[in-house]
Formats: sequence, structure tokens, C-alpha cells
Amino acid sequence: MTTDTLVESAAKLKKAVPLMMKYHVPTTPINYALWYTYVSNEIPELNDGLDDLMANFELCPPVRSEVLYRKFVATKAESTTWQLRQSIETMLGDLGQCVKDTQKDATKFETAINKSFNDLRRIEDEGWSIEEVMGFIHNLKGSSKLITNAAKFLNNSLAKSQQEIESLKQQLLETQKLALYDSLTGLLNRYSFDAELTALLSKNNNGLCLILADIDHFKYFNDQYGHLLGDQVLKSFGKRLNDSARDGSQAYRFGGEEFAILLPSSSLSRARQFAETTRKLIEKLSLKDKRTGKSVDNINASFGVSEFRAGDSLTSFITRADKQLYQAKRLGRNRVFPLS
Ligand code: GH3
Ligand code: MG
Ligand code: MG
Repeated sequence: MTTDTLVESAAKLKKAVPLMMKYHVPTTPINYALWYTYVSNEIPELNDGLDDLMANFELCPPVRSEVLYRKFVATKAESTTWQLRQSIETMLGDLGQCVKDTQKDATKFETAINKSFNDLRRIEDEGWSIEEVMGFIHNLKGSSKLITNAAKFLNNSLAKSQQEIESLKQQLLETQKLALYDSLTGLLNRYSFDAELTALLSKNNNGLCLILADIDHFKYFNDQYGHLLGDQVLKSFGKRLNDSARDGSQAYRFGGEEFAILLPSSSLSRARQFAETTRKLIEKLSLKDKRTGKSVDNINASFGVSEFRAGDSLTSFITRADKQLYQAKRLGRNRVFPLS
């Protein structure tokens, strides 16, 4: 991004803020940065992305805005992860040094003790004077102080590291929350789905449709071919769904072998058709077991479709699609419900 003068920045903000108001964009730092970049017209792909969202949703869905932000404006998750890694590396480095120092002190102490045992023998054999014995005890005291101090220092460092580990754990939890994507399939995850749908429900949603897809007899597939190949199926399935998304529709991994597609401006029958086309694509998916090179049985999926109704909550909207999915399973699987 270019560096703007104060006057240029103010001019851009004057353009960005009314747009944010118009599209009900929450005034968060990320959104400011996103819309500031938008009015700058510096990244055409970002502008196209936001224009598409506006055209399809008439508001700015939070997760997809953030996806655009991360892709084009900044990489917040990356920088947080980077900072976290740095902290862990520093802490491990400190701890490692401390252990090394303590080891050195322990070796010195061992040498001193061995020498003391020799000296002890010599006290008897050579008949040391009281002064010589006192000197010997003094040295022994010095060596044991050294190791006690080293042990104390190590203890303190360990306690401090324990605290740091606790706080790093907290930070890690925070970054995990920031994760919008499912790590296996690369699709947006359930957290993203919930966040996006919750935001959409705050406005009139004529034409919002939801498709839930569930792979048929997937437990059997796993049993037959193993979990790893099962994972490959989930990946291919997710990719197919993602590739077929259009007109603002978006695929999510809903959980396990279940996927969701949100269509922002569709009718129930168009959403059904979309599900039917996707079902046929999935049916044709041919998979190979990389280890044996052999083709494996094709997979099928069942689909339930629901259309948003005034007064719907997140739960009622999802439950309706889930009931339709259940019907599709009950009627024999590998189909879309409602049937027409
Ligand atoms: P149905 O046709 O009724 O949906 O039968 P199903 O076997 O697909 O359904 P069920 O709910 O009995 O089993 C779902 C299976 O999906 C069991 C579980 O091991 C598998 N599964 C869920 N998540 C994953 C995953 O991430 N990887 C793999 N390989 N399998 C998964
Ligand atoms: Mg299931
Ligand atoms: Mg299933």
C-alpha cells in the first residue's frame, strides 16, 4: 500500500465512512483498513470481491470481509502466529541456556565433591592440622553454595516459564478462534458459517437458502478403506463444493462428513437444482487409493434444502434443512429433498 499524506488519508476516510454506514459495516479496525483500501482503488481484486458481496448481500458479511482483508490487506493471523512463535523460541532459548548453566555448575560441584573425598582420606592418612581441616570445610561450603544457587536459579526460571507457557496457551486459544478455515478441506469452518449466518439474519433475507449435504454411509467407507482415504474423500468433496459455488454462494465444512452451502439470493427451486447438480458431480467423482493405485467405490451424498422464512432464527433455519436432509436419507440416500 502507498503511504498517504494526512490530507489524502482524510479524503479517503471521508469516502470510506459513508460507504461503511450504507452497508452496515461495523466500525472495527479491520473494516476501516478494508474500506480504506477499497476507496483507494489500489487493489482491483479486492474491489471486485467487495463489489460482489455488496451486489449479492446488500451488506458486508463479516467473515467474507475478513477473508478479503486477510487476503489483500494484511495477514493478522500470520503476524499473531509469528509473534507467538518468536515468544516460544525466546522462552525455549532462555530455558535451554539456564539448563546448560546449571549442568556446568553441577559438573563443577561433582569435581569439587570428588576432590573433597580425596582430601577427606588425606586428612586421616596425613594427619591434617585443625587449620587445614577448617580450610577444607570452607571450600566445601563454597562449592555447595554454588550448586544451591544454580538450583534456585533454575527453579525460578522454571516457575517463570510455567507462567509464560500459561499465557502463551491463552494466546494460542485466541488465534485458534481467529481460524476461519477448516484445516483438512480448506473450506470455511463451522465458526465462519455461524458468524456469517448470524449477521445475515439481522436483515431481511428474501432469497436466502441453505443446503446441507451429508456423505452417505461414510462410516462404512472409512471401515472399508481406512480413515486416511476417508480424509482424501472429504478433501475432494470439499473442493467440488467450493468449485461449484457461484452467484455469491459459499460452501462450508459444517462438521465431520457434513457440509453446508449458503446461497444469498436464490429461490428454493433454484437451490434444489444447484444441490442436484452438485449431487451428480459428487456421484461421478472417481477416487484412487494412492497406495494400491486401485479405484475405490464411488461416494454419494444426500442433500436437504431450506429457504429462509421471516422470523427464522439460526436454529430454526438450520433445523429445517436438517429435517429435509433426514428425509433424503430416509428415502434411500443419494438424493435431494424436497424432491421438487
Ligand atoms: P449416513 O448415510 O446415515 O450419513 O451414514 P454415515 O456412516 O455417513 O453416518 P455416521 O454419522 O454413522 O458416520 C459418520 C462417519 O463420518 C463416522 C466418522 O468416522 C466419519 N468422519 C467424520 N469426520 C471425519 C474425518 O474428518 N475424517 C474421516 N476420515 N472420517 C470422518
Ligand atoms: Mg452425518
Ligand atoms: Mg453420513
